[in-house]
Amino acid sequence: MTQVPTIELNDRNRIPQLGFGVFQIPPSATADAVRTALEVGYRHIDTAQMYGNERGVGEAIRAAGLDRGDVYVTSKLNNGFHEPDAARRAFERSLAELRFDYVDLFLIHWPLPMLYGGDFVSTWKALEEFKADGRARSIGVSNFEVAHLDRLASEADVVPAVNQIEVHPYFLNDEVRAYGEAHGIATEAWAPLAKGRIVDDPAIVEIAERAGRTPAQVVLRWHVERGSIVFPKSVTPARIAENFELFDFELEPDDAERIEELDRGPSGRLGPHPDTFDYVST
Ligand code: NDP
Repeated sequence: MTQVPTIELNDRNRIPQLGFGVFQIPPSATADAVRTALEVGYRHIDTAQMYGNERGVGEAIRAAGLDRGDVYVTSKLNNGFHEPDAARRAFERSLAELRFDYVDLFLIHWPLPMLYGGDFVSTWKALEEFKADGRARSIGVSNFEVAHLDRLASEADVVPAVNQIEVHPYFLNDEVRAYGEAHGIATEAWAPLAKGRIVDDPAIVEIAERAGRTPAQVVLRWHVERGSIVFPKSVTPARIAENFELFDFELEPDDAERIEELDRGPSGRLGPHPDTFDYVST
């Protein structure tokens, strides 16, 4: 079976560089999709309280007969629970939904600088408690911009192990990624396939034809070669399998340059801007 490389985080824990994302997979379909992914060989699942499907993730792992330690599982704090007491309760609910006694990685999903008086630092301190008591093996953030990371650096004790941010060929998000590289914060690239749009790009299709691989494999391989952690989402079994076959080929030296030329700067962003995003689900 394919061996997925692992990356050492700044707290010495290791994370599989390739995982399976479950955003927008309906709760009722999640266990099935995760079961397919586990059968293919994925051992890293990225979920979140906001996705409403943590339960299906835990169920599929147990149904596969895998030990808890065999699968790396990430979840994220939902936007409505930033106050420390609310964060503590929400974290407990995540463990209860998953039916785990720990998660491998727990993230603040969005910094929400427009809400909570802009105070994501006290939320982060609650996550530091979860790490200290071992219920989150690693802690990190998501959608944090440089200014948000700088604030944590000056006001908190633990440096986030990861920052999960939007990155794909149309939106390289280089400033945030470079900050992570300089400060020992691993970059997790969300929407690695630009939500599926990248597979029709003529430049990608051309590279894929030359390499004898699919467009999705080319783009995911590019992420892997530049050191990012990725977890493409799919509910399509053939694609779940396709997205896992990344470790038996390499891109040509010029390919990365060509892929990075597709960057559209700020207009390539598909998701909301973290400075202004203030969505709280009810
Ligand atoms: P992706 O870039 O992973 O794209 C998913 C889309 O691409 C789906 O429509 C899927 O279709 C399609 N697709 C998948 N594989 C292929 C393939 N081989 N060929 C063609 N099309 C393909 O976007 P996501 O937004 O889902 O991001 C991935 C993960 O990142 C999420 O699941 C989540 O875990 C995380 N994420 C985190 C965010 C955050 O704020 N922290 C925000 C967004 C995502 P289909 O399913 O129909 O096969």
